[in-house]
Amino acid sequence: MQLKNLPRFTFKKGIHPPECKSFSEHQAIEVLPTPDIVRIPLLQHIGAPSKVSIKPRAEVAVGDKIADSGGFISAPVHASVSGKTAREGVITLPNGRRVTTVPIKASEEQPLEGDTLKEAFLGGDWSINLDEIDPTSLSTACSEAGIVGMGGAAFPTHVKLMRNEERPVTDLLINGCECEPFLTADHRLMLESPASILAGAKLAAHATGAENITICIEENKMDAVQALADAIGDENIQIKVMLSKYPQGGEKSLVMAALGKAVPTGGLPLDVGVVVMNVGTASSLARMVLRQMPLTHRIVTVTGAGIENPKNLIVPIGTPFQTVIDYCGGIKDNVSRIIAGGPMMGFSVTDLEIPVTKGTSGITVLTHDDIKQANTTACVRCGMCVDTCPLDLVPTKLALAARHKSIDTLKQYSVDACMECGCCAYQCPANIPLVQLIRTGKILKKMSNN
Ligand code: SF4
Ligand code: SF4
Repeated sequence: MQLKNLPRFTFKKGIHPPECKSFSEHQAIEVLPTPDIVRIPLLQHIGAPSKVSIKPRAEVAVGDKIADSGGFISAPVHASVSGKTAREGVITLPNGRRVTTVPIKASEEQPLEGDTLKEAFLGGDWSINLDEIDPTSLSTACSEAGIVGMGGAAFPTHVKLMRNEERPVTDLLINGCECEPFLTADHRLMLESPASILAGAKLAAHATGAENITICIEENKMDAVQALADAIGDENIQIKVMLSKYPQGGEKSLVMAALGKAVPTGGLPLDVGVVVMNVGTASSLARMVLRQMPLTHRIVTVTGAGIENPKNLIVPIGTPFQTVIDYCGGIKDNVSRIIAGGPMMGFSVTDLEIPVTKGTSGITVLTHDDIKQANTTACVRCGMCVDTCPLDLVPTKLALAARHKSIDTLKQYSVDACMECGCCAYQCPANIPLVQLIRTGKILKKMSNN
C-alpha cells in the first residue's frame, strides 16, 4: 500500500490536545511478572455484576471461570493467575462504584507468564479457516470467555456479535485511533501483533455478517498503518487514515468520519448497520478462538512525566496499581495526580491498591507542571462548549440543569447521550467542571426514574 497520499478522514468539532505519546510509544510490550496477589472485581463491564461460582480457598488455574455472567448485559470473569482464592472483599473502583472482589494468592508454579505468555498473547500463527467456524457460535463463545470492549467502555462484546435479521450489519470498523492523549497500548499492539487483530476482525465480520471491514488509524501512527497494510497483503480489508483529533475514536465520531453515517442521538452504531470494535478486543477474540484463552490479561500503558520508566505491559486482571507502578520504577517526587486511563476520560485514583480491570487502558502519572490550577468563574456564555461538542449537545444547559436538579431539562437536552469525552470542559474559559456536572445530571435523572 502506498501510504504517502492516502486521504484523511475526520468528523466535525472536537479538539486537539497535546498528544504526549512520546513517553511510551517506543516502548515494546513487556510482560509484568506474576504478582503475589490479584483481586478480581465482579463488575468490570457495563451491565449486571458477575456472580461468584467458586468457594473461598479453592485452588484455581489461570483461565478457570470464577464468576458467571450476571445477566444478558454482563460477562463472566476468570482467574488471571493460578493459585488459591481467599475470602471476598469490597473495593471502590476509580469511577466511585463499590464492587466485590475475589482475591487469588498466586502459587509458585505459573503455566502462563514471561515469554510463554508473550508468545501466546502476541506471537505465533494467526491464520484462520472461517469455513470451519459456525458464525452463530461466536457470540456464545465470546460471552463464555468474558470478552468486553478493551477501549475503555467495557461493553460486553457478545452483544455486538449477535446476528439480528431485522438490523443487518454492513460494516465492521476496527478502531485503532487511540485518540486519548498519553495512551499507546493499542499502538504497540498494532505494531507487534497486527495478524492477531486481522484474525479477530475476520471472526467479528463472520459473526455479524458484515460485508466490509475497515481498520481506522490516526495519522500519528503511520508505522501502525504500515504494519497492518503489510499483514493485510491482498486481502479484502480496507485501512482508513484518520486525522489526529479528539475524540476521533469515539464510536459515533468514528462512524461519521469513516462512513459518513450519523448515529441518531441516544442510538447505537448498529442502528445504521455498523459494529465498532477496538483493536485490543479484536485481538482478544482471536486469542479466544485460536489459543482457547478467555480474557485474563490486558495491555496497560504506564506513562506520564511522573513515572520513572514508562512501559506498555501485559498485566493480569486484578493486579494492584501499586504493583504495576513499582515494576516501572515507582513515581517521582513531583507527582500531582494518578489517573486510571488517560487524562480526558480517565478517573483520578487515590488508593493504589485498586486493581487493573478489563477496561484499564492505562495508568497516567501527572506532575504539578502538567496540571493547570485555575479558579472556576461564572459562565461567560461564550458558546465554546457547544461549538466543540462532537455530539451536538449543549453542555452549558446540561450543567445548569444538573445544578438546579431540573430533570425535565436534563431529559430535553439528552443528558444520557453525553459520552463524557471532556471536550467541553477542556475548552471552557470559565473552568466549569462540565463533565462532573453532567455525570451528576445523569445520576439525578436515573434516580428520578426509580
Ligand atoms: S457534553 Fe458530553 S459529549 Fe459533549 S463535549 Fe461535553 S463531555 Fe463530550
Ligand atoms: S464554554 Fe464555559 S463559559 Fe463558555 S458557554 Fe460553555 S460553560 Fe459557559
